[in-house]
Amino acid sequence: MSDQSQDSPPPVPIQELSHRSQWASFAMRKEVWDFQRNVSILPDPKKGELLPASDTRHPENPESSRGQKLRVGIIGAGVSGLFTALTFDYLREHYDLDVEYEILEANGDERLGGRLYTYCFKDKKDEKGNNIPPGVPDVGPHEYYDVGAMRFPDIEIMARTFALFKELDMQFNNQDIEENRKNNPPKKGQLVPCHLNGENQPMLYNSVQIVTDGKKSPTAADFEITGLPIEITQSNPSELFDSQISYYTYLYKTAGPRMFWNSLTKTADHYSVRQYLTQIASYDYNTIEFLEAMNFGNRWYDQAFSEAVLEALDFDPKAKWWCVEGGSQQIAYRMRDRLQHAQAIEYKKRVLGMSYVDKDCQQIDVTVQGEDKPRRFDAVFNSAPLGAMQQMSLEGLRLNWGTKQAIRSLGYGASCKIGVRFKSLWWIEKLGIKDGGQGKTDLPIRCCVYPSYNMHDPVDKPGVLLVSYTWSQEAERIGALISRDSPANEDELKLVVLHDLARLHTSTDAAFEDLKRTITEEYLDHYAYNWYADPTSVGAFAFFGPGQFQNMYPSIVQSHGKHIIIGEAASSHHAWVVGALESAVRGVYQFLWQHAGASEAARRAAEDYAADKVPMPFGPVPAEYDRTQDIRVPSTVKDAAVPSPKGELVRQQAMIEEIRLKQGGDVVDTSKVVKEDVAPILTVVNA
Ligand SMILES: Cc1cc2nc3c(=O)[nH]c(=O)nc-3n(C[C@H](O)[C@H](O)[C@H](O)COP(=O)(O)OP(=O)(O)OC[C@H]3O[C@@H](n4cnc5c(N)ncnc54)[C@H](O)[C@@H]3O)c2cc1C
Repeated sequence: MSDQSQDSPPPVPIQELSHRSQWASFAMRKEVWDFQRNVSILPDPKKGELLPASDTRHPENPESSRGQKLRVGIIGAGVSGLFTALTFDYLREHYDLDVEYEILEANGDERLGGRLYTYCFKDKKDEKGNNIPPGVPDVGPHEYYDVGAMRFPDIEIMARTFALFKELDMQFNNQDIEENRKNNPPKKGQLVPCHLNGENQPMLYNSVQIVTDGKKSPTAADFEITGLPIEITQSNPSELFDSQISYYTYLYKTAGPRMFWNSLTKTADHYSVRQYLTQIASYDYNTIEFLEAMNFGNRWYDQAFSEAVLEALDFDPKAKWWCVEGGSQQIAYRMRDRLQHAQAIEYKKRVLGMSYVDKDCQQIDVTVQGEDKPRRFDAVFNSAPLGAMQQMSLEGLRLNWGTKQAIRSLGYGASCKIGVRFKSLWWIEKLGIKDGGQGKTDLPIRCCVYPSYNMHDPVDKPGVLLVSYTWSQEAERIGALISRDSPANEDELKLVVLHDLARLHTSTDAAFEDLKRTITEEYLDHYAYNWYADPTSVGAFAFFGPGQFQNMYPSIVQSHGKHIIIGEAASSHHAWVVGALESAVRGVYQFLWQHAGASEAARRAAEDYAADKVPMPFGPVPAEYDRTQDIRVPSTVKDAAVPSPKGELVRQQAMIEEIRLKQGGDVVDTSKVVKEDVAPILTVVNA
């Protein structure tokens, strides 16, 4: 057991969790620790008496009708919303949990999946000879591109995503093997390889073009970039950045997580990457700008330095990456088709606001655009991205300042993508870019992705190139040229794209003119998307700033199981499908805890979650909730040597939020907490 004499929660002792999960756990445990320290009827953590695991069995409630039907509203038919519904189906099947859900989606059915969005180019006529409108699936084998999520590394952190793929019967089909290409062409929804690097990848910075195999990073000297200290000019830019975080990665590996977390929170979390590199690494201004331009893109270094360290610890460059044949939206179609009640998804139902019905905050009224009467639910899973959530009227939910602040100000990143359909795969035929991968430049298009899913297609037939993938300020800027009804009204964008594309792939003016002429002739059509201009996403993905994870994250994941915020931002794996899935599991667990007193099935399911018996992908509770050694009583409970069950942190957080709502204040007044508030805990202490 750890040293409890300090004023912070005990250290994180477990090493096998992902670093992001450990970070999330660290942030959330502080709140439980503070609560326990200040509530006099609870054990004193300073004396080594830690908060016990609460009894998973809830006080019997004779008034309640056990096994009652519970009505649940799910806002959003993206990954997290659909997965919440699938998890309830699983719980119905295995525990007889009687939950009736409705999924309210603001967009039409063509946008099922939210940020799982595959755009398909038109090229077919229907039987009457009319053009099939853009965006309709089933047009050409590979004449699409993924506007949102597009690739998935097969690593431990993504285990739940791959478990979902298995659940949805999405088989691996390795098209890198010639035999498979001949005998086993991929079917929609199968997983095919995705290559991050390959031969003949162009890089163009400072108007100097260098062609690499994507593995070696050229230096500033190679690109004739001036104004930098001599030692910087000769160095590999990614190694330069790595050298600055190596102190923390070394600390993690040698001194262990406790030293690592202490050091990261005390010395680094409050810095942005830019501030850290200026004040601690003493890099000069030009060097930082150069590293940012080479490694990521403008304003990327405004994120928290701690996030960058965690990213570096998590990233596995040797992983095998996969993408989905037919596009990632196939995942959403398969999820929909797997639902027991696919008709539960209601499209064009924009949620405008929510309010608790009663003073005990047990039911929620949801106002939907165009409907006279609110819909009433026992609980609501809110998966709208934070910017879209902020547009809802949530006053009636009695959110506290911390949650309101988190919804309003947690960092959310920009991203744009532009896909162009050409008459042929000229990048393979003319330039030998035959392995997929990506080209990079300091021009506005920034990153050009050569799809792996079409690299074995006939080169003389039409195909799509993701000519531009941008983030942060570069996305905001190119976004100024993207119209809401792309490809209409985008003449200027088209000029920029064809210019940059030809420049990226050539090294002389003559070759540039030649390639520009070719690709202009080859151009068929395009589709561009700016995620910040989409009112249902208002940004691309969570991108936390300095101190935000530590201080704001707990406020969006805390819930007493009635209004539950889910979605990738409310997880420790931002910008990944796995984060959306994890948030849904956490949300369902919070829901089960809340309803365990009234529903026998919910109680049994909650107990199985707590005992880690619910299999992937529907369980277990996300790893950050596994770190509960510090919230048990080591000396007074007879089985204290056994760690608290998984999910205990969720339960403690839910209890604190319920007390706050009962008290009606912005924060819990710890002096007013009474025995009944913490009854499940005290039962165990007294046992
Ligand atoms: C450009 C880009 C690239 C990405 N690349 C990858 C990748 O390669 N691999 C990976 O794993 N992940 C990737 N991601 C991340 C991944 O797509 C997301 O993490 C995940 O899809 C988010 O799911 P969600 O359910 O949290 O949110 P969403 O998918 O955004 O779902 C939220 C839903 O709520 C709806 N909604 C919003 N407001 C309302 C309202 N008022 N009323 C009703 N409904 C509403 C929206 O229309 C939407 O359907 C990428 C994301 C982007 C944007």
